[in-house]
Amino acid sequence: MYAALFARLEQIYPELVAIRRDLHQYPELSFQEVNTPRKIAELLTAYGLEVRSGVGGRGVVGLLRGGKPGKTVALRADFDALPIQDEKDVAYKSRVPGVMHACGHDIHTAWLLGVAKVLSEFRDELTGNVVFIHQFAEELTPGGAKPMIADGCLDGVDVIYGAHVSSLEPYGTIGIAEGYASANADRFEIEIFGKGGHGAQPHLTVDPVVTGSQLVLNLQQIVSRRVNPLHPTVLTIGSFVSGSAFNIIPDTAKIVGTVRTFDAQTRRIVEQSIHAIAKATCEAAGAEVSVRYEHGYDAMWNDPLETKRVERLAEQIVGKENVKRLEPNLGGEDFAYYLQQVPGSFFFVGGRNPELDAVYPHHHPRFDVDERSLIVGGKLLLSATLDYLSDTTTAE
Ligand code: MN
Repeated sequence: MYAALFARLEQIYPELVAIRRDLHQYPELSFQEVNTPRKIAELLTAYGLEVRSGVGGRGVVGLLRGGKPGKTVALRADFDALPIQDEKDVAYKSRVPGVMHACGHDIHTAWLLGVAKVLSEFRDELTGNVVFIHQFAEELTPGGAKPMIADGCLDGVDVIYGAHVSSLEPYGTIGIAEGYASANADRFEIEIFGKGGHGAQPHLTVDPVVTGSQLVLNLQQIVSRRVNPLHPTVLTIGSFVSGSAFNIIPDTAKIVGTVRTFDAQTRRIVEQSIHAIAKATCEAAGAEVSVRYEHGYDAMWNDPLETKRVERLAEQIVGKENVKRLEPNLGGEDFAYYLQQVPGSFFFVGGRNPELDAVYPHHHPRFDVDERSLIVGGKLLLSATLDYLSDTTTAE
């Protein structure tokens, strides 16, 4: 069955490229997607799936019922674009000023539609069901995954797979991460309210620059002294803004930073410590302080069993030497929320190709990938689906 499905996927490659290039020319920003979900729903309907639009807001979910009863696999692709001006010199460059598919979500959408089309043609031989989750707004917190889950996109689902194309890894390779694959990606903002005055009369002021400097250093003790060293943690202050003249002590200072952690307990320790240390440091100096800690996407946990399944199948598609074990990525990805509900795995499909100038990082104005990654990603999603549905060792 795999051979026939793979052959069919390769046959419809030009169709998938056309879908991808259409999306690429007409990208839509997170939470503003209108035509993209409409196009997706039309195609899924044409493939004969049961389609639900407006899921969780702007999501589209297609259900394919197999000819024989069995388990249910969900596959997810995101479809939003970024506020970036496309600077590529290709015929399919974005026609929307200031908006661009600079992360490859157009590729994800096209490979998932390819899988839907191929599986729909083989539905009679399918044991079980497949749910196609086309998600809006991955690039912008709070993201589309949570509202789609709340709206029932995972109801009855036993396992989920998803993938991201990568311009960092060569075309023809697949990257696998077991366990934590992305971090809790949080942001904090601290405002210090001192009392400004003349630079020559510091005793009449409460200096937010000195207090803020102490705070920056004190916060570094969270990672070195409060967090278990076996739990990877990053605390970075990316911005410290205060004052405007050499001889004036300003009123306020603002410190903005990011925290990256994997486990929930460490995340809590860091959050509480930032509050406590900011309060105490400023209190000692006689300054007021306000702290805002914002949770970004939760860390993503790839189920070890499902990740091994994906790895084994990936080796069959691109060869053992082209399957790479990846270290956890400290970026954010809201696929994490699906994996909190059901087991599954999220993998990375290489798309880098210097011959096509597809070498720029994600979110770069010249970002592009080798479109043949559509076939690699599609094949792995197809085989993971079939392998799971025919696996008698997984629980019902
Ligand atoms: Mn992305």
